[in-house]
Amino acid sequence: VNDVLTPQRPPRLVSSTDIGRTNRARVIQALCDHGPLSRADLARLASVPRATIGGIVQPLVDADLLEEVETSTPAGRGGKPARPLWFRRTSGISATASLHESACRVALVNARGEVLDEAEAAVDLEPGTNADQCTRAVARTLKLILPKTGRVIGVGMAVPGVCDSERGVVVGSVQVPAWTDYPLARELSGLLDLEAFIDNDARCQALGEKWFGEGRGVSTFASIQTGQGLGVGLVVDGTIFRGEGGLTGELGHTPVAGAGPDEGQPCLCGLRGCWETVAGLGWLRSQAAARKLPAANQMTSERLAALVAAGNAEAADLLQRYAANVATGLATLINLLNPQRLILHGDLATGGPAVLDAVREETKARSLVYLRPRLEIMSSALGERASLVGAAGLVLSERFHLIAD
Ligand SMILES: [Zn+2]
Repeated sequence: VNDVLTPQRPPRLVSSTDIGRTNRARVIQALCDHGPLSRADLARLASVPRATIGGIVQPLVDADLLEEVETSTPAGRGGKPARPLWFRRTSGISATASLHESACRVALVNARGEVLDEAEAAVDLEPGTNADQCTRAVARTLKLILPKTGRVIGVGMAVPGVCDSERGVVVGSVQVPAWTDYPLARELSGLLDLEAFIDNDARCQALGEKWFGEGRGVSTFASIQTGQGLGVGLVVDGTIFRGEGGLTGELGHTPVAGAGPDEGQPCLCGLRGCWETVAGLGWLRSQAAARKLPAANQMTSERLAALVAAGNAEAADLLQRYAANVATGLATLINLLNPQRLILHGDLATGGPAVLDAVREETKARSLVYLRPRLEIMSSALGERASLVGAAGLVLSERFHLIAD
């Protein structure tokens, strides 16, 4: 089934089977990039002749991969509405997992990015827990939702830590110290008898955006996790950017303070003056306490915005400073990559319009003038399941040929 991507395969002349395969892959890629499409739009966006689209699509409908879905768009002049084609609910199902503090969350996610089933279980991540025990706990939780019948195309896990996805190895994780230089993908695969893929949380979120969210059809964008820590997932020219050995996206530890020994706050990483020390919830809460705002140690963007809306001037000033500090790092991303979109996750994504406006305004003020016009800053629509849904994007990226072939 999947030999089309196997490198050892000898080169040969292009046959009609290859053309059929290529056209199918183009059609599916267009659906992934744009969402549900009419046959006419599909032909145009997949660059296949309009006259052949029916012949390409029908076998995919017959094979229960695609179906016609209802549309809310009005009918064209005098005609009945073109019913767009979209993946069936049962197409391209991945089993995914993520860790949040001491809980393992799992989900079954289809090729539409819909969560079909989910579960959660406590996992003992105390220092001293051995690596295999943690892996078995994740596998046990996944088994709660694995279907008895029907195909799962693979397992994807979003890991809180540095991952070498190519080798399937966790390089290091503060949350699960036992997983240091640990072949997590291979171990999970062995326990579940399914191919498994891993990547770090921020990159899974970026893949989720690329496949199912605000990054769909966008060639270059950054997905930014905000809150306690700051992590960045990058999609550059349509491809997730992983860097050497998976060590990338640590923008949170970019120095933003001066270089003097006393400049900048100490960071968890051991350095001083990292972006994270002035643009994370830790900073926000200490500033909220210094300004005597209510419930300072539980301050979030959302609570701060509520105080601002109630007319609290200290809160308004703090929001502007928080947004300015966040903007310092975002401006770095913009100047380096010139992305079309910055997609926010976590604390800033749940802060509401006042927070988003403040971040937009402060970021605009700090980016080069000729990079501004194309840029959009937005909140993720994937919500708190972003990593779980994103891990399905990871599986689809690796196993795409299974649904395309
Ligand atoms: Zn740091």
